[in-house]
Amino acid sequence: MKYQNLHIQTQREFPNNARTQGFGWLVRAGYLSRENEILPLAQQMISQLKNLSTNPSFFSLLTLPIISNEQETFFPLSTGSTEIIHCESCKYTERLELAQFKKTPFSQEVQLPVEIVSTPDCSTIESLANFLNIPKEKTAKALMYTRTSDNQFVFVVVRGDMTLSEAKLKNTVGEVRMATAEEITKAGAVAGYASPVGLKNALIVVDDLIPQSPNLAAGANKTGYHLLNTNCERDYSLEIVADLIQAKAGDVCINCANLLSTIAALHLATRSTYNFENILLALAETHHDDKGLTFPKSAAPFDVYLMHIAGKQLDTRAKAEEIYNDLQAAGISVLFDDRDERAGVKFNDADLIGCPIRITVGEKALQNGMVELKPRTEKENKLVAVDKLIEEIS
Ligand SMILES: [Zn+2]
Repeated sequence: MKYQNLHIQTQREFPNNARTQGFGWLVRAGYLSRENEILPLAQQMISQLKNLSTNPSFFSLLTLPIISNEQETFFPLSTGSTEIIHCESCKYTERLELAQFKKTPFSQEVQLPVEIVSTPDCSTIESLANFLNIPKEKTAKALMYTRTSDNQFVFVVVRGDMTLSEAKLKNTVGEVRMATAEEITKAGAVAGYASPVGLKNALIVVDDLIPQSPNLAAGANKTGYHLLNTNCERDYSLEIVADLIQAKAGDVCINCANLLSTIAALHLATRSTYNFENILLALAETHHDDKGLTFPKSAAPFDVYLMHIAGKQLDTRAKAEEIYNDLQAAGISVLFDDRDERAGVKFNDADLIGCPIRITVGEKALQNGMVELKPRTEKENKLVAVDKLIEEIS
């Protein structure tokens, strides 16, 4: 393709809204607009990537530092919108809301009798634990939902020191929404002091640590009161026991003893469904230097950036056009910068756009039947005879 047909507009400055280097270079090189619109050069690159994505080693061909599991592929990036849990040791990778981790039950103890205690102004786990002077893991946290498919009231119990993952809850019981005040009252619960003990028509769903956590302080379904020493199954029945907890950094890996970390990432793929815009950004984040993009051949929109420098005696443009046709006939994809611009401007653009090879047709070398060839990631260029050019590129 020709430079002018692609309407490439490179930029002198980084856009002031660039949140990452990769985005900044994509805008400067004319792949994206400042408003993150895909421009024709990026469309060209994405269509190449689509063709390549049928290859089972797609991501290794792109030389991207990805992290993945059997379902999904991610690219770590501080501005990425997907939070994932990752184990550095065994490479366990999962979305934060679905990640599993090894839970440690606290020591077993004898079940004590239930006791009702006055707990004024203790409608949060923090205030309750402070008031009773017990650790948060000795409390039961109640969360109340309504299942959207059948309006079933769903009462969830997790340990007070843990956070419910709504994604895990939805995987367990189906789509839910927060219960309304009316629905809570109807089930016999009291917000702030809710307890699974003595509810009517509630689907009680507990985290799998709850059956191993004796004598928890829970609400009494009476404002200003809590129950000490609640024990599931003894004091209330359970309909569903499942893992419902959201993992966090520092939890123990489900597969090995290593501690998990959280990483912000871009989502690149689910099985063989790819997010090519995110892949484009991941490529730019990974492959750039201080002059512009440095795409590997597998990812670059073109194999070769071909340019001419206007001559005094020879028609370098005509020769470049000839080379353009020959290279394409040999199956090499070429971006031909056919503008009448100064050499410096074209060199800059070649560096910005980041095709793996630059070929320059200049008068002096051409008088000896040579053109200049420069790999994008190398400092030196070399002279190559025009009739050896295809061989050299290949
Ligand atoms: Zn692990």
